[in-house]
Amino acid sequence: MDIMRPASAGCPVIIGGGLAGLVTALALAPRPVILLAKAPLTEAAASAWAQGGVAAAMGEDDRPDLHAADTVAAGDGLVDPDVAARIAAAGADTIADLERRGVAFDRDAAGCLMLGLEAAHGRRRIVHVAGDGTGAAIMRVLAAAVRATPSITLIEGLEARRLLVDDRGVAGVLAAGPCNACLLPSRQVVLATGGLGGLFGHTTNPPGAIGHGLALAARAGAALVDMEFVQFHPTALDVGLDPMPLVSEAVRGEGAVLIDESGTRFMTGRGRAELAPRDVVARAVAAHIAAGHRVLLDAREALGGRFAVRFPAIAARCREAGIDPDRQPIPVRPAAHYHMGGVRVDAVGRSTIEGLWACGEVASTGLHGANRLASNSLLEAAVMGKTVATSIAGTEAASLRPARPAVLPPAPDAHPVRALVSAALGVERRRGGLEQAVAQLQPLAFGAGPSADPALVALAMATAALAREESRGGHWRCDFPRPSTAWAHRQALQVDEAGSRIVCRAAPGHPASRPLAIGA
Ligand SMILES: Cc1cc2nc3c(=O)[nH]c(=O)nc-3n(C[C@H](O)[C@H](O)[C@H](O)COP(=O)(O)OP(=O)(O)OC[C@H]3O[C@@H](n4cnc5c(N)ncnc54)[C@H](O)[C@@H]3O)c2cc1C
Repeated sequence: MDIMRPASAGCPVIIGGGLAGLVTALALAPRPVILLAKAPLTEAAASAWAQGGVAAAMGEDDRPDLHAADTVAAGDGLVDPDVAARIAAAGADTIADLERRGVAFDRDAAGCLMLGLEAAHGRRRIVHVAGDGTGAAIMRVLAAAVRATPSITLIEGLEARRLLVDDRGVAGVLAAGPCNACLLPSRQVVLATGGLGGLFGHTTNPPGAIGHGLALAARAGAALVDMEFVQFHPTALDVGLDPMPLVSEAVRGEGAVLIDESGTRFMTGRGRAELAPRDVVARAVAAHIAAGHRVLLDAREALGGRFAVRFPAIAARCREAGIDPDRQPIPVRPAAHYHMGGVRVDAVGRSTIEGLWACGEVASTGLHGANRLASNSLLEAAVMGKTVATSIAGTEAASLRPARPAVLPPAPDAHPVRALVSAALGVERRRGGLEQAVAQLQPLAFGAGPSADPALVALAMATAALAREESRGGHWRCDFPRPSTAWAHRQALQVDEAGSRIVCRAAPGHPASRPLAIGA
């Protein structure tokens, strides 16, 4: 195995080429960094697929504290209000930074930003590019900036397979591709590996989004938190594709309604109807499908023939499937979309392991609580990428020791895990299914096979979901259908010292802290 000795050897290693990784690398320039992405930049990153846009309080009727209040309300009791205030306050600067780099956000004839509305936002505050092409546009600009920055050593096509740790914390990254492997010694490593929707049978996420960074962090001894909270998007295009194309919430923001095969609207009378929080809409859609109906999103009247103008990318995906959204309702169903949980990080993105930072979807800052407010994740990835860069720049790295030999694990294969995860951890969960999943995942997670890392992530989700005997946000237990004040706290999870099971406890600092070991 090669030990990397470029000019940048020993410098910070950033794992992940999505928005969080690119922002971190650019913000650290001109300091040398290695940026490792398992696929070419802009491919396989959820960031490039984002449609709705970036939430930021930019309207004349809006303020960061209103944005933060909506974030706290959507998160169902588990959002850290300080984090929400800080990230919402950084919205305008983040949009300005991206515009300075060349991102052309949509503006009206008077030059004002055009602001979209999404579920559970009290104001129009979704800043977008080319209607529904926000993520692709941002990623094009930032990927070009990364390639033009000499201090960034970009390694595409190698994936991180293990984090090396010693008694001083992180010591490097073991990475491999289809036919080569290398060791990157470093005392400063950033995980920016994105989400885990690819562990589910129905998902909007890129296929490589299997929560690999969570497995790397957990096996290195870092704490994970909020693992049970998965956001299911209510309106993925239901035409048999995997992953499922997304029909953005912004379509409902423009007035499209959910109907069934008889043309009946079934969300009326439920709070803000189609613009209720995502978990509420996803459950209603899932229940309607379970009752034998088809569910369709009807934009005919709301967009009056302008669908392709406002949502060109979604219109194209519909047309590929033979659907004309100006004339026909769009078939939809819920799909795993966003993971609120992740590597437990502090205000500057530091994990519980010395030298390991995390940002973007793989991290859990406390912004999203039990349920993410739409379009807050691009904002969080950009804000925290910059915050992590500042934290690294202000931290002195411990000296490196010669690398020790390490065993290279096989490339992760999530397929054996997908059916288990889909059956037990979907929109509705119950004790029996979760217990079965834990029992089946335990030997896979702590075995040596290619599904070990995906199984470990799934085991952490199932363990946390089994422990949380209530329903809140993205976690719905049929056997405990109400929220419970006894559960108004976050749960942290860690692989035990023997490396043979996951231990779950109330996040430190909470009076209800009680250890719970499952799957011995
Ligand atoms: C279809 C869709 C639409 C969305 N729309 C919006 C929206 O409008 N607004 C919004 O705020 N959010 C949206 N989201 C969510 C948002 O896109 C993500 O949360 C965000 O982009 C995550 O950014 P990230 O940098 O953390 O991860 P990603 O952009 O997913 O990037 C992860 C990177 O890590 C790499 N990687 C993973 N594992 C490894 C490894 N082991 N070694 C090396 N590299 C690795 C991947 O290849 C990729 O480059 C959407 C998500 C989807 C799927």
